[in-house]
Amino acid sequence: MEVTRSDLAAILYETSRQSAEFVFGDTMTAISQDDSGVDVTFEQTAPRRFDLVVGADGLHSTTRQLAFGPESEFIRHMGLYVATMPLDGPADSRRDIVLHNTPGRMASLHPVHGRALAAFIFRHPQIDDFDHRDLDQHRRILAAAYQGAGWRVPELLEKVRTAGDLWLDSVSQARMDSWSTGRVTLLGDAASSVSLFGDGSTLAMAGAHTLGEELAASPADPRAALSRYEARHRTLVDPRQGNVAAAAALMVPATRTGVALRNAATRLWPAAAAASWLRTRIAPRPAAVAA
Ligand SMILES: Cc1cc2nc3c(=O)[nH]c(=O)nc-3n(C[C@H](O)[C@H](O)[C@H](O)COP(=O)(O)OP(=O)(O)OC[C@H]3O[C@@H](n4cnc5c(N)ncnc54)[C@H](O)[C@@H]3O)c2cc1C
Repeated sequence: MEVTRSDLAAILYETSRQSAEFVFGDTMTAISQDDSGVDVTFEQTAPRRFDLVVGADGLHSTTRQLAFGPESEFIRHMGLYVATMPLDGPADSRRDIVLHNTPGRMASLHPVHGRALAAFIFRHPQIDDFDHRDLDQHRRILAAAYQGAGWRVPELLEKVRTAGDLWLDSVSQARMDSWSTGRVTLLGDAASSVSLFGDGSTLAMAGAHTLGEELAASPADPRAALSRYEARHRTLVDPRQGNVAAAAALMVPATRTGVALRNAATRLWPAAAAASWLRTRIAPRPAAVAA
């Protein structure tokens, strides 16, 4: 089951619009703080003072840049780039995602609400002059990375040449020694992006919940609350940040042998899952026995 990003955003917005003020089309330009609050200036609207600033502005967080330092200090390239491109027509299959792998490259077609979405994930060293907003650069990177690829890739690359909603970025993690400084804190990908391999949306939502709980527990002492939020939420984030290499090896094997092994393992998967299910029925877990 898949909940699309835009559906999730709409649900969150509708649920909170009565109790929160939303300002669209603006961005922070400077943050300065003292013991009792944070002064923020904006690109479009007048400066304001807040008790607390929570940067939930994603991998390329402006909050992180303003309060902690340049992105290059905190973002770690994981050796892959990812691109997506919605297609006009329906996907070939309504249920199945179809993957085409050659060593170091994966192209795929996903059904999303009846429409097809093309996705590309490929191994590539960090591109020094990469600009996550430069669509023409993204088209060039993709064309070079998938040169000579078979299956439906030539047809998809033809669409890439004119697609207005092509999206491409480095697969990266955010790693920080601390997510908070004074009364400014970070949440979700801004603080601890796991990359696309690892429940990033779930972690962002769980982190927000933990942050809310801790702020409610000691509203007069936000620093203590932020420290408890980080200590608790890191126990969920840290293990997932370590799993990315294995997920990448599964999705984008680097060699022909890797592709063959992955395919063989995938064919055995249903049998392994069935065996595991049977084991749980034959030997109930201790908790079930105790209950
Ligand atoms: C291709 C891809 C597929 C993925 N698939 C999955 C998946 O299947 N399951 C999963 O759990 N996770 C997935 N992830 C990871 C997931 O998308 C992220 O971990 C998650 O979106 C993080 O949420 P966030 O709210 O921290 O950041 P984001 O979702 O990036 O949201 C940040 C928001 O801040 C806004 N913003 C940015 N800058 C500013 C600014 N200066 N001022 C104001 N607002 C700003 C942005 O417009 C955006 O709305 C995927 C990621 C990628 C790239």
